[in-house]
Amino acid sequence: MTVIKKETKTEDLSDYNKIYAISYDGYVQSYLNPLKIEASAIIEDSEQYLALKQAEITELKIFQKMEITTNETHLIKLDHLYEKNKFHLQRLWNKPEDITQHKFWLAPQCQCPKSHNESIFPSKSYIISENCLIHRHRLFKIT
Ligand SMILES: [Zn+2]
Repeated sequence: MTVIKKETKTEDLSDYNKIYAISYDGYVQSYLNPLKIEASAIIEDSEQYLALKQAEITELKIFQKMEITTNETHLIKLDHLYEKNKFHLQRLWNKPEDITQHKFWLAPQCQCPKSHNESIFPSKSYIISENCLIHRHRLFKIT
């Protein structure tokens, strides 16, 4: 199980789909929603748009690193990077920085109660498991 998909090659996409594809290593990972782009007043070939795609790839790279380590100090650093990148993404989407919108439980190896957190989203009171090496530092504010 890996967060990086190797199913659809970006080069096989139509020019239109390439505009919205988030690609990593030559493969499509996900697509940005054209309607959401328009609703957020973002121009497709702007620097902001390219930065937004780049920040989506950064999130994948952070998840990829989370997948291959069990070192808690490293995981905490990666969680800080994840949070910083999520705030960056919110600014790029022309949205206010809002931690209640971060679905941190999507991180690989996360032991927090995913379905509970998903069901109360968005919330100021997500449950963090004391067994989760990635997120339990948030309970005690260890930096
Ligand atoms: Zn967790």
